[in-house]
Amino acid sequence: MEEEIAETLARRALEAREKAHAPYSNYRVGAALLARSGRIYTGCNVENASYGLTVCAERVAIFKAVSEGEKDFTAIAVATSNGAPPCGACLQVMAEFVEDFSSFQVILVNAEGQWRTLTLRELYPHGFTSRFLWEEK
Ligand code: ZN
Repeated sequence: MEEEIAETLARRALEAREKAHAPYSNYRVGAALLARSGRIYTGCNVENASYGLTVCAERVAIFKAVSEGEKDFTAIAVATSNGAPPCGACLQVMAEFVEDFSSFQVILVNAEGQWRTLTLRELYPHGFTSRFLWEEK
């Protein structure tokens, strides 16, 4: 992935983080998802007084994109205070829409704007799938 694209996604994730609704955890997260079409979809975490209804920033971005007709993604940037990776639920949702785990880039961004990139293969090597049996994606 080109450095410039990663920088753009990191910046967009940090901007999306500003919109986080996180009054309970105060853990603010922003995401910026790059579709193969070139469009970028952003998301922030949206918490609820009934905690279990909370949705992560990554899934907000992915669901926004899918609801706009996109199903092919190449990268996602996730901005948090500490540059943490996505939770397991979000990795599984990414896996649904990623054909090649080794090429899908997950850009981890901290609040200072520093970032590093891992692949979905590195973060989630054995995601659930009903499509293939005994064959890695
Ligand atoms: Zn998550």
